[in-house]
Amino acid sequence: MGGAVSGRQPIASAITIDAVTKIYPGGNRGLDEFSLGVETGEFLVLLGPSGSGKTTLLRCLAGIERVSSGTISLGDQIVATSSQHLPPERRDLGMVFQDYALWPHLTVRDNVAFGLRRRGLARNARRSGAGDVLRRVGLEHLHDRYPSQLSGGEQQRVALARALAGRTGLILFDEPLSNLDANLRERLRIEISELVRESGATAVYITHDQAEAFALADRVGVLQGGRLLQVGRPEDIYGDPATPFVARFTGLAGEFPARILDRVDAPGRAEVQITDLPMARPMHGRMMAGTESCVDVVVAIRPAAISLCRHDVQEHHVTGTVVDVAFRDRGYEHAIDLPGHPRLTGVLHHTRFDRGDTVGLHFAAESCLIFPTDGMPSPVLKDMAVAEYVPV
Ligand code: ADP
Ligand code: MG
Repeated sequence: MGGAVSGRQPIASAITIDAVTKIYPGGNRGLDEFSLGVETGEFLVLLGPSGSGKTTLLRCLAGIERVSSGTISLGDQIVATSSQHLPPERRDLGMVFQDYALWPHLTVRDNVAFGLRRRGLARNARRSGAGDVLRRVGLEHLHDRYPSQLSGGEQQRVALARALAGRTGLILFDEPLSNLDANLRERLRIEISELVRESGATAVYITHDQAEAFALADRVGVLQGGRLLQVGRPEDIYGDPATPFVARFTGLAGEFPARILDRVDAPGRAEVQITDLPMARPMHGRMMAGTESCVDVVVAIRPAAISLCRHDVQEHHVTGTVVDVAFRDRGYEHAIDLPGHPRLTGVLHHTRFDRGDTVGLHFAAESCLIFPTDGMPSPVLKDMAVAEYVPV
């Protein structure tokens, strides 16, 4: 890893966040006893809805915000406690923000060269170093432009180049793709992943977009109310969400009150009946932590768990009515009403069923997640940034 050009050793990049609480003047709690470790070279993504504390955490890591209690260490150096605060410029990190935050009065090359100042290089070396990094992000030809003469995507590439140029051990990203259109988001996401991993830097990246989080992360941490609910590989978060909130925020078609009929022999599996719903045959699901002694439960269903079929031809668990169908590149996404229950959304099928059609629904046990009823708020799926269905 770079950074030693000036002869000054960079702070090792592994992060330890220990029971950090941030209370803003006025009493708002930005972070609540937040603990997390990040390994050197890891790409960690923090996922949570608006107001969950993502930006607060990033600003505390960067040193822009002070912590109220708890400890943050970068490598073996303590950088933040309630009484100790290392300023941002001494933390050896780069940042990429949602709104790019480039210097408007500097050209593209000088913006990137600014990122090299901390390496103690002479002006000429900075300018040629900036040229190298700009080539890596494909912007060499724009080096003389000012930020106002660039598109949003180009500006964000410059910000990325500036962060990479510093060769810091740690790069922090605050929703860097949220202001870009879909096609560009996808391309820049891949570039960020490629260039950051190639640089060897540790990355902490925050977003409210589940698909983006899963695509980028070595590990994902899910936040709610300033707390870390769960951290793990995307596959683990998706397959074994710790709480209904995590399940919901990582993509559900719907959730229903249900009753356990039988604990079947396969470990962790149970036969369930959705409450007040005529079922052609009982469905199965996986029991999440805490359901061992429950009878009344909630079944949370991943979109990938549902297969649609003609109700009069194939075997299925329940029948429903198609209320909406939307073309997607991978097939057709259906919204389906089950009698007396909240609507199922995001149900993908390779061909289309029409509005008003009666369809059969089959639920795969692997992706039907059984949670205890207690603490389960009523389903408000539509209000959340539940992103696209992600096949795992
Ligand atoms: P996110 O980035 O996940 O949307 P934030 O970290 O911005 O969340 O906010 C977390 C909580 O802290 C919210 O309740 C928010 O209202 C509060 N908060 C954030 N910044 C401030 C501030 N400067 N002053 C007071 N409250 C704040
Ligand atoms: Mg934010």
